[in-house]
Amino acid sequence: MLFPTTIAGSLPKPEWLAEPNKLWPTWRSSGDELQRAKRDATLLAVKVQEDAGIDIITEGEQARQHFVHGFLEKVDGIDFAHKVEMGIRKDRYKAMVPQVVSPLQLKGRVHAFEAQAARGHTRNKLKFTLPGPMTIIDTLSDSYYGDRVKMAFAFAELLNQEALALQADGVDMIQFDEPAFNVFMDEAADWGVKALERAAKGLTCATAVHICYGYGIKANTDWKETLGGEWRQYEQIFPAIDASPIQQVAIECRNSRVPLELLSLLKGKVVQAGVIDVASDEIETPEDVVATIEAVMKHVPKANITATTNCGMAPMHRDIAEAKLRALGTGARLAREKLG
Ligand code: ZN
Repeated sequence: MLFPTTIAGSLPKPEWLAEPNKLWPTWRSSGDELQRAKRDATLLAVKVQEDAGIDIITEGEQARQHFVHGFLEKVDGIDFAHKVEMGIRKDRYKAMVPQVVSPLQLKGRVHAFEAQAARGHTRNKLKFTLPGPMTIIDTLSDSYYGDRVKMAFAFAELLNQEALALQADGVDMIQFDEPAFNVFMDEAADWGVKALERAAKGLTCATAVHICYGYGIKANTDWKETLGGEWRQYEQIFPAIDASPIQQVAIECRNSRVPLELLSLLKGKVVQAGVIDVASDEIETPEDVVATIEAVMKHVPKANITATTNCGMAPMHRDIAEAKLRALGTGARLAREKLG
């Protein structure tokens, strides 16, 4: 089937699970009650995607507070009690982050609960997202390793353990999220992609990397204003990704200033093309979706195009996110009719 649909990863959390419209929301309950709420929200996320016609679904990242820290919570060697302020993505915004204080190791499984909950309730293909090593090390403070690359590879090993376990849970695709690649382009090409390969080692399910210009939060939209008329960051990192065994690349295309000809640098890859803008509440029409797919088709063979959202939808309003999911499903169907 042409133009299968997926989403970047996250969906908004229901207000009975966590504070709405926040990137780092507070949970509404704790203990067993929170666990039940996470499970219910996961099943709802599955259902909403299925109903919208999304082919490769996710668990909506309903069981993690934040896409990076959801992983870090299950890692030994990190001190969450003494957070420090850190500039993130080259000081684009400040956040209170935990510190690495001793050798890193997993306390156990990280995402088994929600992966198995989702797997048990859908026959669709299931994609699972994990933060990439470079993005992780740019979202916490180091008081132990004293070397960015060393710490990134330590995380890559832990990610690999969890990715292999998720595959055993029945996940069909592991996607690593590396928004930091668009900020540290030289490092991404130098060692970031290699760290990613370490994280994906031994996987036989599909593998993907998502690189983007971030959620539709103000810090990101302000940053984008400084990037000029053409966003060419992908140009510096695509050759290294193209040379890697990672099979798919998820990137933003809708309402973005990325020159789409850069996609031709990804010769052998499936391109998950963002056709839904997450930085705008305006709902795309199916025709908008078709138009973006058509533009991508000029640079990527149509058999290699998947339609997705530009980035995660975690901070959005639920009704808007759901309307955008329906636009994605309907738009991809229309694209199959018109361009198939
Ligand atoms: Zn993103």
